[in-house]
Formats: sequence, structure tokens, C-alpha cells
Amino acid sequence: MALAIRQSRLLQGKSLFIFLSFLGVLALGVVLLGFWYLIEPRLEDIHTGLPLAIGLAILAVYLGVASLFCLIFLSSYLQRDLISAKRITVRILFPLALAIGKTLRISEDRIRGSFIEIHNSLVRAASPLVRGNRLLLLLPHCLQNFQCPHRVTGEIRNCTGCGKCEIADLTKICDAYGIKMSIATGGTLARRVIVEMRPKAIVAVACERDLTSGIQDSYPIPVIGILNERPFGPCRDTRVDLAKVATAIRFFLGSDAAPTGDDKPEEQEAGWAPCGEKSDSLRT
Ligand code: SF4
Repeated sequence: MALAIRQSRLLQGKSLFIFLSFLGVLALGVVLLGFWYLIEPRLEDIHTGLPLAIGLAILAVYLGVASLFCLIFLSSYLQRDLISAKRITVRILFPLALAIGKTLRISEDRIRGSFIEIHNSLVRAASPLVRGNRLLLLLPHCLQNFQCPHRVTGEIRNCTGCGKCEIADLTKICDAYGIKMSIATGGTLARRVIVEMRPKAIVAVACERDLTSGIQDSYPIPVIGILNERPFGPCRDTRVDLAKVATAIRFFLGSDAAPTGDDKPEEQEAGWAPCGEKSDSLRT
């Protein structure tokens, strides 16, 4: 069965996280039922009506949890803020889904990627709007060309814009929208950047592991996570879809947000459009 689940084509994208969370809710039902079964004889000794009363109370709690679970995933699919449940998703459902997925020997990266999709859609459902100077684009160091001699960590302006990596284009995008940008070499530095810059929202680019830990650490700041591409393997000369970055930025600034900076980038060359573009890559 575990093999069938691992290979199922149906469990792609958001579906995998939903399925694993659903297994978690089922497991909770079994635990609660077992608990009631164990205490039922003792309750009967106290009062004959007590097993039914406690049983109904446990059932009510369970139905509450199951309803919450349904609302979270309806919010994600409909992109409607039916319930503000990012905390439960981040703090409870994600560790639960990860634990169940590990038991079934499903790749952690698959589960993390699925969680990021769900989390992005919950952030989008809540539709938080922020000013440009309170929006942070947080990037991993591995986006920088491996042989670049310039140290851009901590001081992005050291990039000379040679175009050998996407740091130059990303700088132009940030300048155009007037948002903050930082490159972090790891989780500790990323956390320090967030504490110092105090953003109201974050667009983060990283691998599955760093994105999920970043989302957990940054909570309750809304984060849209964008997975990097790794044509040369992990942690070296990675890339990111610039259109996805621009779409996420515009989402936080408002759907009609247009570049405001003087230094407007050459959009077509950079592979993204400044405004009016209908890319829905992050809306699925
Ligand atoms: S674009 Fe900037 S960071 Fe990238 S290789 Fe050139 S100088 Fe270095």
C-alpha cells in the first residue's frame, strides 16, 4: 500500500499534503475511539449515563477537528479566507503530514513542496496588502554565480550586474517595485535579516527544506515561497522563475501594482512583465 501511495499520480501538488493530513485526522479518530473504549468500563462504574455523555463529547471534539480540516483545504482550493488557519497548518498539520509521510517512506521534499503549495494558497486567500518598503524578497546565496568574485551577501549593491546569474535581474525587479531584498547564506542569517528589516510580508526563494523551515520560523509573517531550480544540483548556480517572483511581489502590493522606480528593468530580457501580466503561476 505504501508503494502504491508513493507512486500514485493522483498525489501530486497540494493533494499529497491533503492526503497525509487526512490520514492524520483518521489516526486521531482511532486514538480517540481507543481512549473512549479503555475508559468506558470505569465511567460505567461511576454512572450508567457517563459513557454516552463522554462519548458524545469526544465525538463533538473530533467532528470539530474534522470540520476545521475541511475548511482549511476548502480555503486553499477556493482561495477564499474561510478560516484563518495558517497557524494550525504550519504548526500542527505540517509536522503531522511529515511524520506520516516518513512512515510511508514518501520523499520529504515531495511533502515539503506540497505543503508550500497549500501554504501559498492560504496566504493568497487571506489577501494581505503591504507597502513596498515593508515587503522583503529573501534569496538564497546559491542563486549567485559560483565563480562570482563579488560578495553580495549583506550588500546586494556589490553586484555589478554582469548578468551571469539572476541576482542582477532580481535587483532590477526590487528597484522597480521599491521593495527590500536580501541574500542569506542560511537560516540563522535569514532570521536575523527578518528581525532587522521587520517586513510585513516576505517573498522567499529557496529549496524545499529551507523554505518550509523559513515559513515556520517567520510565522505569523505571511510568506509566499518559490522553489528554486537546481540544474547543477543543490546549492550551486541555482535559478528561479523571475515571472513567479514578480507575480508574488505584485500580489502583496496589490494586483495592479506597477514598477515605481526610475530604473525600470528590461522586462522581456529578464523574462517577466511589469504590470497587467496575467501570469497565474502562483495562483494554482
Ligand atoms: S549578476 Fe551580480 S552576482 Fe551575478 S555573477 Fe554578475 S556580478 Fe556576480
